[in-house]
Amino acid sequence: MSKYVNVVIPPLHSPFTYGLEEGDREQVQVGDRVLVPLGNRQTAGFVVERHHRPPRRSSGEEVAVKPISSAAEPQPCFRQEDLEFYQWVAAYYGDSLASVIDLAVPNSVPKKFNLFLSANPTLKVENLRGKLQREIAQYVCKQNEPVSYSTLLKRFKGAAPAVKKLVAEAAFISCKEEILDHHINRSTPPAWAKQQITLNDEQLEAAKFVAEQSRAGRTSTILLHGVTGSGKTEVYIEAIKEALSCGKGAIVLVPEIALTPQLIDRFRARLGGEIAVLHSGLARRARWDSWRALLEGRNRVAIGARSAVFAPMRDLGVIIVDEEHDNSYKQNESLRYNARDLAIVRGKLACCPVVLGSATPSLETFLHALRKKYHYFTLPYKHHRTTKLAVEIIDLNRVKPWEMASRSVSPQMAQAIRDTLARGEQAFMLYNRRGFASYLQCENCEAVMECMNCSVTLTYHKRGNSLLCHYCSSSVVPPIFCPHCSKTHPQPGKLVQRGAGTERVYEELQQLFPEAVIDRMDRDAISDFEQYKRSLERVRANTTQILVGTQMIAKGHDMPNVTLVGVVDCDVGLHMPDFRASERVFQLLTQVSGRAGRGLMAGRVLLQTRVPKHASLQATVLQNFTAFAEKELVLRREMQYPPYSRLLRVIALSSVKEEPGQFLKAARVQLDALIKSEKLSVAVLGPAIAPLEKIKTKWRWHLLIKSRSVKPLQMLRKKLQSLQPKSKTLRFIYDIDPQEML
Ligand code: ADP
Ligand code: ZN
Repeated sequence: MSKYVNVVIPPLHSPFTYGLEEGDREQVQVGDRVLVPLGNRQTAGFVVERHHRPPRRSSGEEVAVKPISSAAEPQPCFRQEDLEFYQWVAAYYGDSLASVIDLAVPNSVPKKFNLFLSANPTLKVENLRGKLQREIAQYVCKQNEPVSYSTLLKRFKGAAPAVKKLVAEAAFISCKEEILDHHINRSTPPAWAKQQITLNDEQLEAAKFVAEQSRAGRTSTILLHGVTGSGKTEVYIEAIKEALSCGKGAIVLVPEIALTPQLIDRFRARLGGEIAVLHSGLARRARWDSWRALLEGRNRVAIGARSAVFAPMRDLGVIIVDEEHDNSYKQNESLRYNARDLAIVRGKLACCPVVLGSATPSLETFLHALRKKYHYFTLPYKHHRTTKLAVEIIDLNRVKPWEMASRSVSPQMAQAIRDTLARGEQAFMLYNRRGFASYLQCENCEAVMECMNCSVTLTYHKRGNSLLCHYCSSSVVPPIFCPHCSKTHPQPGKLVQRGAGTERVYEELQQLFPEAVIDRMDRDAISDFEQYKRSLERVRANTTQILVGTQMIAKGHDMPNVTLVGVVDCDVGLHMPDFRASERVFQLLTQVSGRAGRGLMAGRVLLQTRVPKHASLQATVLQNFTAFAEKELVLRREMQYPPYSRLLRVIALSSVKEEPGQFLKAARVQLDALIKSEKLSVAVLGPAIAPLEKIKTKWRWHLLIKSRSVKPLQMLRKKLQSLQPKSKTLRFIYDIDPQEML
């Protein structure tokens, strides 16, 4: 029996040792949340180890430890198996176990109960004293089942003391029932979601393979490559059914934005049981109740955004990562984990297959499939597709400014929209930038309005008339005259709008099609999930005729009447200083193209661009992922970028401009020495000023380290961590497998 426990108390990084009183020794388990004394207060922590070793000082002398506060009953929060996964994550990303637990485990919420009352069989109502007591007792006796306390309070004015008395005098028997918040499982899913289908041959082959692996408890990664609508979700459902039939559980990860009620309904209807939904937007109680339902094995399917990879599912049978290429799987703050990568690790630890689904797999995943490290299955056809999607390029270099239908819309695009509306069909217009103008520029001195806190231009938003920073959200009222030359010139220049955004495209389309119902979908127009849902419902109901939006529209759902997709400017994002720029643009264009012609009607996609020969665009036109991937992989190999190398990006940031550069330059010398002495095969780039030199008043420098394997990167990260000075101003970000390069 263990006498001690190590307890992690987030956000403190190192665990603390506490003693266990005789009576607690059996009760307290790894994964329990316990109350412990810390300094002169009580705080909550998680048990991560039980042991017999009394803690000692370096001199060997035993240290007296405090016992845990046994007054509070321990609350199980995770299992030993989960802890092993957390430990892996901590080691890989170079963070503390405390940070991982803090991230993974939701806050526990005290249980809430409903009180139910029934009459004691021996009760004689007429013997009761007091009119109210008799009335209440009469009512309760008449019901066939126990009555909830809240019902009585509602029915009888001032019932509380009377009920209390009735219970105290044993006239009533009370029982407690826990209130669980699992709102999504309350309603029956709609009929459309229940449709049963017969898998086609390709689907069957993939589903069978996953089922075999799951049954045998073998770990393997399966890439399921198929365009939107090719029936990937049906394969997932089959795989989950199979796991459930063997008594195993399943985790389904989807990008945050795809976690719609429709999707959840579809899984619920087809799997027939309750499922736990996990994402960071849930209310605390709902999140905690879902977590507990999994921990206790009451729910066998968990569906959620990236954090659901930590779902405490026992006996995992399969993990599914839908849209595995999606950027939202990577967390770009605090612990910079990638849920797609962690799903594969979890699959290995739990000995179950992991299915990665996508129409445009990330090149990392695709290369693994080419090298046969992953099993590869394709679903080549759209299930309902009868005609091929027509994708065409509109070369804006060939359209004279005065020929344009409006500033951003070419005559060809305008004609296509006109035709679509005339047929009573709908159009999606993508412009992947928010606001009205991307920046304001002085017509005299050419100065551009920049954020005070960040080294980025301010975006002009017409609604609210503001200049907004998309990085720190600060905003200013746009001046009419240039603040730069007004200092020196008697006649300062006027500020003019440059570049466009969804707000502007929306306005142009309104002018071109005054009769049409046009809606806008971007982070300014849509601030929460309800609005997002309603906006999609308006499209589904055919109310919205043209939907203008950022990448948010690319991930919408099956909209059978959308037959035209127009990309107003394909070049947004193409010229970013990021080696993944082409891949991202290709993914976005392919995904948004998939919105056209999902029903029985032919779909058409028009791409406006000034670089018509660009590989990302050409591959989109040919609808050929493999051609794109093969070309792009050659470039990546030449530059030794992922998937041919692993990256560690180190960012140093400080409010003191010189500090990050000075530190990283000095650190580089030390790294070079270590690389030489350890004969590490790595390449170090930089330090250099980060492309976004300043964000939120912090100046930034970065260093990029490439290596064939991750081990040297971890070693160099440790070295850098050991060099970190105790500075009040200097901060560091260590990003393993970074997605952001700005
Ligand atoms: P994906 O997940 O690849 O986008 P879905 O699984 O959502 O594709 O399938 C798209 C549509 O086709 C859905 O309405 C689905 O019910 C239907 N579907 C898929 N496979 C079949 C099949 N074998 N038989 C009938 N309908 C199918
Ligand atoms: Zn800013």
